[in-house]
Amino acid sequence: MTWSLGSKRGAPDGLWMKCEACDNLVYKKVVEDAHHVCPECGFHFRISAAKRIEYLLDDGSFVEHFSNLESVDALNFKGQKSYKDKLLKAQKNTGQREAAVFGTGAIAGQKVVFGVIDANFIMGSMGSVVGEKIARGAELARKEKLPFIVVSGSGGGARMEEGILSLFQMAKTSAAIKRLQDAGGIYIAILTNATMGGSMASWASLGDITIAEPKALLGFAGPRVIAQTVRQELPAGFQTSEFLLDHGFVDMVVARKELRQKLISLLRYTCREMPAFVKQSGRHTSKVEAPKVVSR
Ligand SMILES: [Zn+2]
Repeated sequence: MTWSLGSKRGAPDGLWMKCEACDNLVYKKVVEDAHHVCPECGFHFRISAAKRIEYLLDDGSFVEHFSNLESVDALNFKGQKSYKDKLLKAQKNTGQREAAVFGTGAIAGQKVVFGVIDANFIMGSMGSVVGEKIARGAELARKEKLPFIVVSGSGGGARMEEGILSLFQMAKTSAAIKRLQDAGGIYIAILTNATMGGSMASWASLGDITIAEPKALLGFAGPRVIAQTVRQELPAGFQTSEFLLDHGFVDMVVARKELRQKLISLLRYTCREMPAFVKQSGRHTSKVEAPKVVSR
């Protein structure tokens, strides 16, 4: 095929890609240099767990934990494809055993427990192993007194192939995060496109600080389902990061390239006297004292 710059009929292998949001052809190298963000419209492309680790953590600091956990097909689930086949395919495509990759690492020298849910693995849906890793990550953060940071990419919500076993994970992850927070720990949730369903309704929405990437779709049921159920036209930008920021559900919308710097400032603020965080953040222990009444 002959190829000329600006043609929109197709892209030659490897050099150019089409932005799924604005339809523009963009030079791959430019997209990669921008941490996989479209230079034309700012769309944040889906990235792997390895890229997240590279972009957010200090070089070479990540040590994976719980890597031996692997999903089993307890229900012998068969849809169009069997769950076993889906798992094998996802493992082959991503080179990971599961969607969740958790471990310890450092951000500008501050040790953290860090996890990422890779949307390339069965849409980042939460089965028993994803839930277990989130819960163990929160437990590790509590025991080691480290900040807990999770990047979600869970468009698939709870993993339907595991049925009720995946729904159990909602309670388990929420409880583990609550124990961390009750102990004075800090949990920073980074929500990326898309984070939905059972993930959003549990661990993803429990951050002490909730950061979202721009224009991410974040919610429980999808907008189409809601529109059909309530039979109303939904407001513009419904369930996007920016909409949820306006309505107080997320604390900040941060572009991917600025995310590491933002985490550095937040960690400095919350863990002022690192490495022990317990008494520094004050978030969970501070109480508003009633004004004293002075009688004269
Ligand atoms: Zn674009």
